[in-house]
Amino acid sequence: MSNLVAIVGRPNVGKSTIFNRLTQTRHAIISEEAGTTRDRQYGYCEWNGREFSVVDTGGWVVNSEDVFEEEINRQVSVAIEEADVILFVVDVVSGITDLDQFVAKILRKSGKKVVVVANKVDNYSLQYQAAEFYGLGLGDPYILSAVSGLGSGDLLDHIVPMLKPENVERLDDLPRFAVVGRPNAGKSSIINAFIGEDRHIVTDVAGTTRDSIYVRYNKFGHDFYFIDTAGIRKKSKVSEDVEYYSVMRAIRAIENADVCVLMVDATRGIESQDLNIFSIIQKNRKGLVVCVNKWDLVPSKTAKDIKAFENAIRERLAPFTDFPIVFASALTKQRIYKVIEVALSVYENKKRRIPTSQLNDFMLPLIENFPPPAIKGKYVKIKFVSQVPETQVPTFILYANLPQYIKAPYLRFLENKLRENWEFSGTPMLIFPRQK
Ligand code: GDP
Ligand code: GDP
Repeated sequence: MSNLVAIVGRPNVGKSTIFNRLTQTRHAIISEEAGTTRDRQYGYCEWNGREFSVVDTGGWVVNSEDVFEEEINRQVSVAIEEADVILFVVDVVSGITDLDQFVAKILRKSGKKVVVVANKVDNYSLQYQAAEFYGLGLGDPYILSAVSGLGSGDLLDHIVPMLKPENVERLDDLPRFAVVGRPNAGKSSIINAFIGEDRHIVTDVAGTTRDSIYVRYNKFGHDFYFIDTAGIRKKSKVSEDVEYYSVMRAIRAIENADVCVLMVDATRGIESQDLNIFSIIQKNRKGLVVCVNKWDLVPSKTAKDIKAFENAIRERLAPFTDFPIVFASALTKQRIYKVIEVALSVYENKKRRIPTSQLNDFMLPLIENFPPPAIKGKYVKIKFVSQVPETQVPTFILYANLPQYIKAPYLRFLENKLRENWEFSGTPMLIFPRQK
């Protein structure tokens, strides 16, 4: 996925309602696994076979009526930097406000593709009122009622042709790692420690140049790409302390990566921004390595301290807990090469294929001993397990007489058993019950 659509606008115009409506188009197709939806700000939209990511920029800022111009300014500036298309939402009931004018001015100067969305047009008699938004100087407004869905098809028909062509071809088959994390976690420092001066920057051939920057790492028998976020790319005009800034910047890198190295600042632990980034990694089903950086600043490093630190991280990221954690220091270079080794092993785990016979030899006796609970007196029989070939993450199918009765807790139990028996650390996994 390489297109990002950002929703901007002042509070209460309906941004989050629009976000929900747009991302619902996809939920029908791919259901979210339980427990993975931590944030409501980032999701996918699918329309007529095209897919793109949607971000509700309002979801990451305090949503109050008396929002400052400065805050809106930063919110819109990040969207301008990161998004391909911007949906500028206004409210037909309240008409144009000063804050709308303020946002419009920034957007006009940006030269970005902007769609003015006149929301809360709940019935057609309100559509004439929407004409006034033409006065914002950003083209014809599109009318929408995010609550009822009126106008959403037309809006999507308008958005899709504005997207960049899909860039499906990969440079090559080398692994791609993204280093992501909150500002000051040490992303630039660790990439500098790896790459130093002999930086060989590769831009995606078919993609547009500003999309993602790939830095090839070709040393010590390894060959892969780092996908840059903050590191090599110029630090932005937008101040780094904006809460969702690192999250917005991480989206593309995560989408283009195989494995993400989530840099956590040891002196701060896991905070909301880390969780937001983690959630994007999970939604995209990417491999994960947590790198606890600035380990040199931690005074007490007994085995007990380390265990406590690890447990605290796994608790915050639960229910997904099977991922490697590396304690490192980009400054002293302690264990930074371990990060690469671990990322490569996660890459292998993500591609791991279990031969069907081995899989069934292990799973069928286990299922026999611990069958799924009977529901309404009906017994579920799982007859055969197979792994789907050629998938992004290990995907298993359970062939059963009554697949609809196999529930999430049982699937989690089987997932844990698979993880105990084979090396799947750091990779997401999918298990689907199917009718035999
Ligand atoms: P945000 O602050 O821009 O994210 O706005 P919200 O999505 O939270 O919506 C603010 C309020 O407007 C909520 O009470 C919504 O239910 C309401 N709202 C959103 N879209 C519509 C709409 O299309 N019609 C009407 N009548 N109300 C809406
Ligand atoms: P980024 O914003 O995530 O790219 O973070 P930077 O790499 O720019 O690092 C932010 C600050 O933390 C800089 O002052 C670095 O020198 C410092 N820093 C980064 N890694 C370490 C580390 O492992 N130990 C210590 N003590 N400082 C670090």
